[in-house]
Amino acid sequence: MIAIQFLLGILLGMLVNLLADSLPFYRRVEGFHCAHCGAPRAVLAWSGISAGLSGRRRCENCATSLSPRTLFIEMVLGIGAVVIGIGAPNASAYLVQMLVFSIFLLITVIDIEHRLILHIVSGPAALIIALIGILDPMRGPEKTLLGGLAGFGSFLLLYYLGQVFASFMSRRRGETIDEVAFGFGDVTLAGVIGLTVGWPGVIVALVLGILAAGFFSLLFIVGMLVRRQYNPFMPIPYGPFLILGSLFVYFGGVGLVVV
Ligand SMILES: [Zn+2]
Repeated sequence: MIAIQFLLGILLGMLVNLLADSLPFYRRVEGFHCAHCGAPRAVLAWSGISAGLSGRRRCENCATSLSPRTLFIEMVLGIGAVVIGIGAPNASAYLVQMLVFSIFLLITVIDIEHRLILHIVSGPAALIIALIGILDPMRGPEKTLLGGLAGFGSFLLLYYLGQVFASFMSRRRGETIDEVAFGFGDVTLAGVIGLTVGWPGVIVALVLGILAAGFFSLLFIVGMLVRRQYNPFMPIPYGPFLILGSLFVYFGGVGLVVV
């Protein structure tokens, strides 16, 4: 059973890698290809694991190595598939949890690599996750949709506040600030998170995410101050922290905090 779960995780990891290599560039799925020259990869190089084992890590066309992220994501999902299997009450819950975990991993990878949360990812993710939540007798339509609305609405407000702040600061400094702290992608992500954990878990998830991002920013700012490179408008990707908070709530960690 563990071997099957591990294999499922690897396959989902390959899919996440494929989407992360395609969607930010083409907005559609391109087959397994070299990130540098776009040449198709040999079948054994589709997976980071098989590429490593068969000595096909380098592109046959331009000799660029496969990103280490390819192997990393496969291992995270492979091991994650086994760990999630331990906690899942039944097979259908297990598959749903694996799907949610894969979607959030995909959003995290793209956000870290491109500072982007793509609508082509968050849109279908919102639809699928909403449907799952609505059909789940433990959750139901009310809690699911209210969660999504609360996440989307509260972050939309933060987004507009950020815009007002940025235009105020740019007027004061007499220069335009292109990078807003908080992109619209974060608003759609907050909506997806709300649909995933439902009401009232969405509050815990987003507050945890914001606290984690704040803590990281503080460390980051201290580091920059020490190196005398501080820039108050340095954008910080919020997505991975919000996702960390939501996965914590989703996988039951919230039981430790809220009874
Ligand atoms: Zn190449």
